[in-house]
Amino acid sequence: MRLLHAYDNIRKRYRNGLAVVMVKRNACGGCFNQIPPQMQLEIALRKKIIACEHCGRVLVDDLIQNAEE
Ligand SMILES: [Zn+2]
Repeated sequence: MRLLHAYDNIRKRYRNGLAVVMVKRNACGGCFNQIPPQMQLEIALRKKIIACEHCGRVLVDDLIQNAEE
């Protein structure tokens, strides 16, 4: 359950206002640069923490947001 734990930490950081953004329409929710398909795949797989290569924010997919609601 290490992955879940990692994402728990991300959600905590998100609440604390650190740089975590949602992927929106295949683009970074922070700087709106397009995310390469390979990176999108890695974000969806959640095997590691993926940071936007343009703005450095940590990218999370929409499922994280849904879990907050
Ligand atoms: Zn970005």
